[in-house]
Amino acid sequence: MRNKDLKQQTLEYYNLKSINNEGFNVGLIDLSLNSMWRYHHFLPIGIQDAITMGEGLTPLLKVELLNKKIFVKQEQLFPTGSYKDRGASVLMSYAKKMGVTHVVQDSSGNAGCSIAAYAANANIACDIFVPADTSKAKLAQVRAYGANLILVDGDREATAATALLAAQNSYYASHCYNPLFLQGTKTFAYEVCEQLGWKSPDVVVLPAGNGTLVLGCYIGFKHLYESNVIPKIPKIVAVQAENCAPLYHAWKQGLQEPVKITSGYTLAEGIAIADPIRAKEMINAVNNTQGIFVTVNDDEIIQALKLCTSKGFYIEPTSAATIAGLIKAQEIVEGETWVTLFSGHGLKSTEKILSILDADN
Ligand SMILES: *Cc1c(COP(=O)(O)O)cnc(C)c1O
Repeated sequence: MRNKDLKQQTLEYYNLKSINNEGFNVGLIDLSLNSMWRYHHFLPIGIQDAITMGEGLTPLLKVELLNKKIFVKQEQLFPTGSYKDRGASVLMSYAKKMGVTHVVQDSSGNAGCSIAAYAANANIACDIFVPADTSKAKLAQVRAYGANLILVDGDREATAATALLAAQNSYYASHCYNPLFLQGTKTFAYEVCEQLGWKSPDVVVLPAGNGTLVLGCYIGFKHLYESNVIPKIPKIVAVQAENCAPLYHAWKQGLQEPVKITSGYTLAEGIAIADPIRAKEMINAVNNTQGIFVTVNDDEIIQALKLCTSKGFYIEPTSAATIAGLIKAQEIVEGETWVTLFSGHGLKSTEKILSILDADN
């Protein structure tokens, strides 16, 4: 299968929603599977075609953060170290089923690791385009899976443009454009509600870069709500880095479109996306849930990281940004039950974490 025109891929997103038009039914969960594939009945691909490494069904742990118990989903515990495996598993299963033999993807880190891992598992050839300054651990991981790694000089946008060109002769397994990725990330919402005994949380705090989790969660919670499985859709608090916050600024001004920004350095590299392609959808999702956007700076990220590591949770700085956002949002948003996540493992961020530790001495 050839890569489709991008507009058509975006359209496909709406088509996929109709594939899953069927209501969610708790009785159709496959309890024999202790992974996100227990919801295969509600995924656009059958279990017999799943490319899976047992991903998902991560623990929903109660963690005490600043005198309040918060449910924190342990999304750093995936095969590749981040929740991106949810999207990669569904996307690569679909690609395999369609007979795709070669994929192209661009990423500043974790999404590239996930696609490379699942491509290896599916025996599909894979080219990953990354900005030249990506962390060494992530580059090593992509290469170890046997993917062809292409370093692009310039920023994240330059990398995407180069990958798009290459995708004209291949299948574009993009976590941003390809709607199948969100069909994987929506299982986060299913798992949270199942783990809470089919109650909805009041507030869900999520990172907001390209929106793979914000949009996946919105699709998942909405599906459960419209199927009368949960009584309401939780408020989504979307966290951006202060130095790269196009959605926050748009939302603050009551706009539906992102505002043009010049981005500066942030420790939260994973959410530093200046021009996200699904920006409108993300603003819409947050507004529809009566949620908010918040921004966090590097000092707040470092404080949050130290709070987590002091309790034994080793996460990457981008993950700590979400926790910093949660701390801030607690002063703004009301709600009893709060859910958030550790989005990525700290083991890939040795250099950054070392520099934070060294700055204290
Ligand atoms: C990808 C990623 C995010 C942000 O997700 P978006 O899809 O860009 O909104 C947050 N944390 C980690 C560790 C990630 O890998």
